Amino acid sequence: MTQPADDRPTEPVTGAATPAPRSPTSGIEPHTPRRPLWICRTCAVDWPCLAARSLLAVDYVTDPAGLAVYLAAQLQQAYVDLAALNPDPGPDPAALQARFLAWARPRIAVTRARLDGQAEPPE
Ligand SMILES: [Zn+2]
Repeated sequence: MTQPADDRPTEPVTGAATPAPRSPTSGIEPHTPRRPLWICRTCAVDWPCLAARSLLAVDYVTDPAGLAVYLAAQLQQAYVDLAALNPDPGPDPAALQARFLAWARPRIAVTRARLDGQAEPPE
C-alpha cells in the first residue's frame, strides 16, 4: 500500500450533500416573457421563442411532466393577459396550445437524445 506524497489531510467527509447543481442553462441570457404582451425580453418575438424552448427543454429534460405543468400555467396567464389586451376576438386557444404546449414533448425527446449522444431521438 502506497502512502500519500504528503501528509496533508484529505477532504473531510462530512456526509453533507454536495451543493445543488446549477442549472445547465444558468448564465445564459434569459429568454423570459415580457408581460402582458408575451414576447421574449431578449428576442422580442412570441414567447416561448426558439431559444426559450431549447433552454426549457434542457432544464426540464428529466422532468417533462414538470415542463408541461409550467407551460400550462404560462399558457393560462398568457390567455388572460392577451384577452385583456384584445378581447374581441381574443386569443386563439388552438394557436396558444401550439405555441405553449405542442412543441414540448418532441423537444424534450430531441434534447434527451442529444444529451445521450444519439444522433436521432428514439421512436
Ligand atoms: Zn428569446
